[in-house]
Amino acid sequence: MRQTLIAGNWKLNGTKQSIIELLAGISAGLNNSMNASVAVCAPYIYVPLVETALKDSDISLGAQDVSAHTSGAYTGEVSASMLAEFSCEYCLVGHSERRSLHIETDAEVATKFKMLKDQGITPVLCVGESLEERDQGVTEDVVKQQILAVIDAHGISALENAVIAYEPVWAIGTGRTATPDQAQEVHASIRVLLESFDKTIAETTQILYGGSMNPANASALLAMPDIDGGLIGGASLKADDFLAICQAA
Ligand code: PGA
Repeated sequence: MRQTLIAGNWKLNGTKQSIIELLAGISAGLNNSMNASVAVCAPYIYVPLVETALKDSDISLGAQDVSAHTSGAYTGEVSASMLAEFSCEYCLVGHSERRSLHIETDAEVATKFKMLKDQGITPVLCVGESLEERDQGVTEDVVKQQILAVIDAHGISALENAVIAYEPVWAIGTGRTATPDQAQEVHASIRVLLESFDKTIAETTQILYGGSMNPANASALLAMPDIDGGLIGGASLKADDFLAICQAA
């Protein structure tokens, strides 16, 4: 039985004030009838603020990226051990915006993934195909390759207690969502891939869907057998929308 996880990815949004208000709104609305565990991935600079705001809360703190290095002359970078100092429980790696805008390779993503594991932070490995790749019919190959990059570098055991987020690039921030069947098909193929290495890891790994998930489409997506939660961008910035997705879980 996999626990549903609803994680907000705030991206480059928010102010001190808006984040305090957003967290207060989410905290006030969460209740025991919701089946999901909840996390928010904050911009680095707000991580200490969010850590403080979430003390005594059930909401987990996450970050959006991490350095592939442990320390040294890497101006502008933040290491996994720094995130661990601020009680980060989750951190995204390989988000498509990092892969495309910052030219992050599969190898670099795999290194970041391992950095997080070494610090006891749960990596959320983001994978997904572009529209062109979907049209070419290579979606499952692309996703498989992105996951194999981690398994080849660090072994299947690295996937233990990790999270995978399937996010079709064409659905991110576009308002165009994968249908529940389209998403389920890819999620099931990820589960089959994991199963070929380790049955327990396949059964226990949470596979989230991301890409324009909102209060209107969340129930249908989350009802699919291999969709174990959501990675929510735009709709995580409004407490009511985010809570409605948590409620749908
Ligand atoms: P979106 O973003 O919900 O705004 O499409 C999801 C993501 O990029 O994680």
